[in-house]
Parts: sequence; structure tokens; C-alpha cells
Amino acid sequence: MKKPAIICSIIFLLMVCFYFFFLRPEKYVENDLYEDILQKGVIKVGINIDSKPFGFTNENGDIVGYDADLAHYIAQYILNNRDCVEFIPVTPANRMLKASTGEIDIIIATMTITPQRREIIDFSIPYDTAGQAVLVNASSKVTSISDLGGLNVGVIWGTTAEKNLINLVPTANILGFKSYQEAYSALKTGKINAITSDDTILSRFAIEDKEVKLLPKRYSREPYGIGFRKGKGSQKLKQNIDNAISDMKQKNVINRLHNKWLEN
Ligand code: GLU
Repeated sequence: MKKPAIICSIIFLLMVCFYFFFLRPEKYVENDLYEDILQKGVIKVGINIDSKPFGFTNENGDIVGYDADLAHYIAQYILNNRDCVEFIPVTPANRMLKASTGEIDIIIATMTITPQRREIIDFSIPYDTAGQAVLVNASSKVTSISDLGGLNVGVIWGTTAEKNLINLVPTANILGFKSYQEAYSALKTGKINAITSDDTILSRFAIEDKEVKLLPKRYSREPYGIGFRKGKGSQKLKQNIDNAISDMKQKNVINRLHNKWLEN
């Protein structure tokens, strides 16, 4: 190789190294979710709005419930103002995508912490626990989940109960719904024989409507966590949310919220 060619090659190589070592990595430095929230002065919270008593719209059109109260507490803890929350409705099927793409900062939506979901997003420590249950019409002969073989069973798309049912009762005819209200209507009109999901949500239907009942047995343990985008950029946020939940547990706030929303 001629001398000028060697010099050109060396210069090119140096430029490539400079680009990769000093310029390009900056493009991959994740923004810090916690700092972003402090800067914005608001937390965008993905919440269910048809999951009474966790997230639902009251007569004034406000989103309220256990998860909504939790969101206000987190806002108070992080931003010193309980009202610095923007609620964005999510469903079990779209909430992880919305957190990963930044449409929402955190998910507070009766979301169970599972190893499969941990592959996609990160979770806080648990704040409460539910169990998978079965809701049927009061006149139904179904007494346990194993009776659901060959019957039409409603699930909410994207929930843990949808996945569990496939394993627990492979012969059930599974019908997916976007919302609890739609599944409940299908149960009332006889389109489905049962709904399976968290007892904490299904029990509300049995409390408000004596024509449906919740079977006594539970088929899973569902620890609820607050979810957020996975990665280094959410570590500081996780630390703060974990601290907020520990603080709530220590000050009996979680117990009070549990009793306020679930025990009456
Ligand atoms: N806890 C269940 C889950 O995470 C049900 C959640 C829901 O209906 O939002 O899949």
C-alpha cells in the first residue's frame, strides 16, 4: 500500500473509533424517567377505568378507586403535590406497550407481577394481593373451575387469568373481552357461563348484583405491582416508588386503602 493510502486508512480508522467512542453512545443514553417526571411536574399514570373498586369513573366523571388513590399518594411522595397526576386509561392488553413507548410513565392497574412480564417491564415491590376466582350466575350448577370444561368462559384479553385458564381447563371454550363490563353483560345474557379473573375485581359484581355469585376457591396468587419501562433509566424511579410503597405500608396507608375500597 502506498504511503498516502496508509495515512488515509489510519485517519478513517481514527474517525470510526472517535464516532463510536465519543459520539454514537450518547444517542443510546436513556433518559432518566424519574428526572423526566420531576421536570414535567406530572406523572402520567396508566389506569383501568372499568375495574371497580380499583379504577373507575364516578358520577362527577372523575377517575377514582384504590389504584387512583395510590397514584395520588405517589405524586405526593415524588412531586409534593397529590394532584400532579394525569390518568390515561389502559387495558390489560395494551398497558405494557404504553409504558415501553413512553405514552405513560407508570402503570397502576391491578397488574400482577409475573416472571414473563418482568422480561418486558420492571415492577415495584407489591402493594396488595389478589387471587384468580370464578364468577357465575347465581343459578349456575358450576361449583369449581374444573366444571368449566366444554363451557363458554369469559376472560379479559391480556390478563393472567386468560393464560392460567388455558392450563387449568384446556377444554374450556375461551371468549376474550376488552373490558369487565362487556364480559359481565355477556354473562348476564347467557352468552358465556362464567368469567374468570381477579377476586378483587369480580367480587364487586357479586356485591352489587345478587343474581351473580363468586365461587369460593382461588386458583392463583396475584401480587399487584406498579409497572414502568424496563432499563437503567427507570432505576431511580423504581427506588422512589418502592420507598413510597414501604412508607405507605409503614404508616398503615395501604391497610386503610384496602379496607376503604375492598372491605365494604
Ligand atoms: N391481575 C390481573 C393481571 O394482571 C388482572 C388485571 C386486570 O384485569 O387489569 O393480569
